[in-house]
Amino acid sequence: MSVLELGAASNTPEAPNQAPPLVGYNVYSSDTHLIEAVKREGAAWADGRLNELGALLGTEEAQRWGFEANENEPVLHTHDRFGNRRDEVVFHPSWHRLIRTSVERQIHSLPWTEPRRGAHVARAALLMITAQNELGHTCPLSMTFSAVAALRADPELARQWEPRMVAPSYDPRFRPPAEKTGILVGMGMTEKQGGSDVRSNTTRAERLADSREYLITGHKWFCSAPMCDAFLVLAQAPQGLSCFLLPRWTPAGERNRFHIQRLKRKMGNRSNASSEVEFAGAWASLVGEEGRGVQTIIDMVQCTRLDCVIASAALMRQAVAQAVHHARHRRAFRRSLIDQPLMRNVLADLVLESHAATLLMARLARAFDLRHADERESGFARIATAISKYWLCKRAPSHVGEALECLGGNGYVEESIMPRLYREAPLYSIWEGSGNVICLDILRALTKAPRALDAVIHEIKQGAGADRRLDAHLSRVESELDRRVQQRSSNGDLTSEAEARRLAEVLALALQASLMVRYGSSAEADAFVSSRIAGNGGHTFGTLPTNGDAQSIVSPIADSLAVYGSAP
Ligand SMILES: Cc1cc2nc3c(=O)[nH]c(=O)nc-3n(C[C@H](O)[C@H](O)[C@H](O)COP(=O)(O)OP(=O)(O)OC[C@H]3O[C@@H](n4cnc5c(N)ncnc54)[C@H](O)[C@@H]3O)c2cc1C
Repeated sequence: MSVLELGAASNTPEAPNQAPPLVGYNVYSSDTHLIEAVKREGAAWADGRLNELGALLGTEEAQRWGFEANENEPVLHTHDRFGNRRDEVVFHPSWHRLIRTSVERQIHSLPWTEPRRGAHVARAALLMITAQNELGHTCPLSMTFSAVAALRADPELARQWEPRMVAPSYDPRFRPPAEKTGILVGMGMTEKQGGSDVRSNTTRAERLADSREYLITGHKWFCSAPMCDAFLVLAQAPQGLSCFLLPRWTPAGERNRFHIQRLKRKMGNRSNASSEVEFAGAWASLVGEEGRGVQTIIDMVQCTRLDCVIASAALMRQAVAQAVHHARHRRAFRRSLIDQPLMRNVLADLVLESHAATLLMARLARAFDLRHADERESGFARIATAISKYWLCKRAPSHVGEALECLGGNGYVEESIMPRLYREAPLYSIWEGSGNVICLDILRALTKAPRALDAVIHEIKQGAGADRRLDAHLSRVESELDRRVQQRSSNGDLTSEAEARRLAEVLALALQASLMVRYGSSAEADAFVSSRIAGNGGHTFGTLPTNGDAQSIVSPIADSLAVYGSAP
């Protein structure tokens, strides 16, 4: 061997004490919390589909799609080489593979095509496992799924558009919808001068003769997935803010005047294109009644909020799976990390949070299944969507950040997936109603839909009798709410706006605790109530009281992942 060859040889040819990648695993069958929730909430029939997708998503190949779609960001082409407008975004092939995989499994449509008991729960579980692999591509799927709910307000439009929206066929060609086997639909509400305050929208809609056709002029400041085939947008019509279906192609087969100005440079969610668009007299159809745009689009918004809840539960589950897997394989100070008492406390706290998120997400999905047939479930869906959206989306960023730290420096490196999860996590609290706006929505629900409050109290009380600390908390919450109902302020509000986050938090924790005492293990129920209800936890993860059984909280997760990766 020459001197140069000797010099080139590595001094550390092996990488001892490194955890193997969490690959070749079944994202669904390794998640006992999700499996139990799916069965309990009425979707046991979807077990086969979930197992099939779970196995695919855990493969090295499917994981690579997620990385490639994010490392190769979409590129906007505003014009062709002759100066004609093109307004097309080009994506990496892995983006298309991800969407095709999800569309073929009806993550964008299942409850609409198979409206059987548990369809929303089944779809929620499919989305939850998909989102653990890659979240950006679920944006157009979520919007398409949700748009169906709003479009049904207009039976004629639904008749024309719904069949292609719900088809299990992904057709990425930029062609008029009639030529395609499947289409996707996005949404445009947010404008420069206001996102939450949609009534400040300045985009105008001018009616064409005596028809339901309009020309839209204005802009949208955030318009994600601009290669969708059509968008539900809000614009000011003579009777007020109205909802429109604005396609990328006009019925005459011409490109609509939908001009993509630029793509946002985003903190995360990089596989997905989010754009700024201008409408220069773009053709659109009125959806529902003129002047009732918010009421029309609200059905879509409720569904996308459900998906924010699912996405946040997914982020927490993937983060905790990675953290437990790493801690099981990595040794420090002569012991596996998972056996270090302080690390076990951190992991147990993270597992609890993730499990509570899964419980709440699945219970909410069941309410979506039952809401049209059962008044109480309808009230529950109304308010629990906002409560869960606020709480899970708020918990996800700090949860993922803590899980990332469990991997030490490796968690800060892109290949670990943790930075991608971390950058993604804050989005769900911003999108579709930022934290404060959601809390104000909870106040609105309490004021305008008193049955919603009854429904949430009823659900919380299902956990009564299991833990006296929870019982005491429930009676305090109930009597406080009763007192406020008796003393409603002159405008009907139960509480001042400034108190709304506190109220949301109390209700969210009571709901999660109620679910945990019913469906968690006794160690989990005890630790959850003790740390989150009885005040025996700290302000960071890893501060569970030490008289609990952290090992029995963490071990089932470690065991379910143990068959993956080489033995420590
Ligand atoms: C990656 C990404 C993709 C997006 N995609 C889309 C899309 O496809 N279509 C679309 O329409 N929008 C989209 N959005 C926009 C998103 O929905 C808005 O950013 C969001 O609704 C907040 O609106 P805003 O940005 O105008 O903030 P603002 O409305 O200005 O709110 C700023 C802050 O003030 C708070 N706030 C607002 N009102 C009150 C109040 N009365 N009291 C107390 N606090 C208040 C909010 O909670 C928030 O924290 C996207 C955003 C992101 C980040």
